Amino acid sequence: MYDHDHRRLGRELDLFDTDPLIGAGLPYWLPDGATVRHALEEYVRAAERRAGYRHVYSPVLGKRELYEISGHWSHYGDDMFPPMELGSEQVVLRPSLCPHHALIYRSRSRSHRELPLRMAELGGMYRSEPSGVLGGLTRVRAIQLNDAHIFCAPDQVADEAAGALEMIRRAYAALGLTRARYRLSLPGPGGKYVADPEMWRRSTALLTGVLDRSGLPYEAAEGEAAFYGPKIDVQVTDGAGRESTLSTVQVDFHQPERFDLRYVGADGARHRPVMVHRSIVGSVERAVAHLIEQHGGAFPAWLAPVQLAILPVSEAELPDAEALARRCGDLGLRAEVAGPERGSLGARVRQARLVPYQVVIGAREAASGDVALRLRDGRRLDPLPAADVLARVTALVGACGTGLWDDAVPVGA
Ligand SMILES: [Zn+2]
Repeated sequence: MYDHDHRRLGRELDLFDTDPLIGAGLPYWLPDGATVRHALEEYVRAAERRAGYRHVYSPVLGKRELYEISGHWSHYGDDMFPPMELGSEQVVLRPSLCPHHALIYRSRSRSHRELPLRMAELGGMYRSEPSGVLGGLTRVRAIQLNDAHIFCAPDQVADEAAGALEMIRRAYAALGLTRARYRLSLPGPGGKYVADPEMWRRSTALLTGVLDRSGLPYEAAEGEAAFYGPKIDVQVTDGAGRESTLSTVQVDFHQPERFDLRYVGADGARHRPVMVHRSIVGSVERAVAHLIEQHGGAFPAWLAPVQLAILPVSEAELPDAEALARRCGDLGLRAEVAGPERGSLGARVRQARLVPYQVVIGAREAASGDVALRLRDGRRLDPLPAADVLARVTALVGACGTGLWDDAVPVGA
């Protein structure tokens, strides 16, 4: 195991764990891990709202017929859980969110004026991974997917795919992630893919155009496409050098056909929309695993389970420390008081080494209303009024950046 293995850190930092009685590939999230996950999910939802997506919820189960229509049953059946018998029906845990979203689209008549219609959901899906490959958060059987489907006219596909790539670029900047490469994932030989050469030619040409216009370097890879269409995959590597896909943008002519999706065009006639599938951070499990490994547990401040460790030098400053923690809470910041019962000041500073901000309150600070601030990277700042520190940290956290202090957005901006 290398240094930043997320399975080791996940246990050491109390982020997530597993229990044999729940089962392999079914991790649970402990409070600190759940806090990171919640911050990540809220970032994604806010970015999607700003980009014109509307969120929906849909159930994690569907009838077998749904997946026969979508094509999952015949092309993806090996990765699906066996169906459950319910009276005369069979229901399955869903292997993806697309079919539900296609039905939500189809539930109303749609006009060209509604397009591009951007539908997003952070929702559960399931994959019957063999037990031998399961581990930590990277290979799981229950997946929370950051997913969205853009239903659009064919001439809107390129802009929508480029917009999704831009959202991915911004998210990586906020999360402090580096992509290894862009991959244009194409079909390979074998019966895994929908047999429709003209459809593959059109959708591949569209994605190639998007990559070429954006000037992004990429490599094509055969045998990596979705069964219904090609993908732009954003690849990342873990500390052991293993590559995996985090984000993806896909073009799909297949499911609109299978679900007979339509919209009424400006000409009054009914037209077939295209589905762009896109995920900014992929599955929440894999994204958090990658964040743990990338940062060694020292998350960007806006993601950190505890953002400020408040350290009273002695028992006498405990009331000031607790009052400051309450002010943090009122501002939406996550603060924790580590009092002298937890050891010497030096020991408490070391315990809080992954916390972005360590706020020390001694007798002098308590009297003046100032605080002595230490940053996680080792910098120690001159005493500052507590209100200034909180305003700046609030602005930094709200901006979802990776800087701790100097590269902050100006306070009040
Ligand atoms: Zn999809």
